[in-house]
Amino acid sequence: MKIVKTIEEVRRQVKEWRAEGLTVGLVPTMGYLHEGHASLIEASHRDNDRTVVSDFVNPMQFGPTEDLETYPRDLDRDAALAEEHGCDLIFNPEPDEMYRDGFSSFVDMTVLTEELCGLSRPVHFRGVCTVVTKLFNIVKPDRAYFGKKDAQQLAVIKHMVEDLNMDLEIIGCPIVREADGLAKSSRNTYLSAEERQQALVLSKAIKLGAELVRDGERDCGRIIKSMTEKINSCSAAKIDYVKIVDEKTMQQISTIDRPALCAIAVYIGKTRLIDNFFTSDL
Ligand code: AMP
Repeated sequence: MKIVKTIEEVRRQVKEWRAEGLTVGLVPTMGYLHEGHASLIEASHRDNDRTVVSDFVNPMQFGPTEDLETYPRDLDRDAALAEEHGCDLIFNPEPDEMYRDGFSSFVDMTVLTEELCGLSRPVHFRGVCTVVTKLFNIVKPDRAYFGKKDAQQLAVIKHMVEDLNMDLEIIGCPIVREADGLAKSSRNTYLSAEERQQALVLSKAIKLGAELVRDGERDCGRIIKSMTEKINSCSAAKIDYVKIVDEKTMQQISTIDRPALCAIAVYIGKTRLIDNFFTSDL
């Protein structure tokens, strides 16, 4: 496995692979890899001849008061994990390789990004769409892999690919959880031992919501109320949102009469965590 820092090196390698008739999968990440990322790398390794993992903490998708400076980074550890799961090339650019002086072009989206995380993170999806478009243009993959953990991001990327006729397939992969249910996240490292326990309220609320839907409940108001009560039973938890939206448009619905996403964002202390379930996965 190679680690490269420049766009030119990625292009050169991918061109070589293409000349040999090989297919290429891309797994975009911000590094500090865990088993969630590993599952995407494995899926890409299974479906493609070669797998590229981008490892880049993208400044453009962080708001001014967010955790860009403190976001955990460890390239050596990432390289070991990525290689073990089938990565062939890590692309680890510096910010000025991705955003040269005078950078002034953006990929933006309306509607889907104006709900859920887009409300509390107004610049986030413009940063995501822009960096992911750049990565697609640099790597030109046949397939790209995204986790359902970031469900709105997955919907946004799928929509962008369709809207802008990008020539690749987007694959959504299941959420990987800790043994006790907490969804794996690089940001879990911010949690103190006590907060780590309290953070379980997210997956408990998701489990409760999923059970209600599985048992036939279709009224979103009642599902949201039960989940909200569950989360509020934990004194350390502060709800950002508990919502049910159409799986494709990300617009709120009142009855589950189509494939839907139930998504939550909750602060545990200063750390903002997200979790969700898709009704189509139940
Ligand atoms: P990040 O490095 O947090 O930007 O995540 C990179 C990719 O890994 C995104 O597509 C995430 O949705 C995915 N991912 C992160 N955590 C998980 C998880 N627990 N299970 C599955 N995919 C995940």
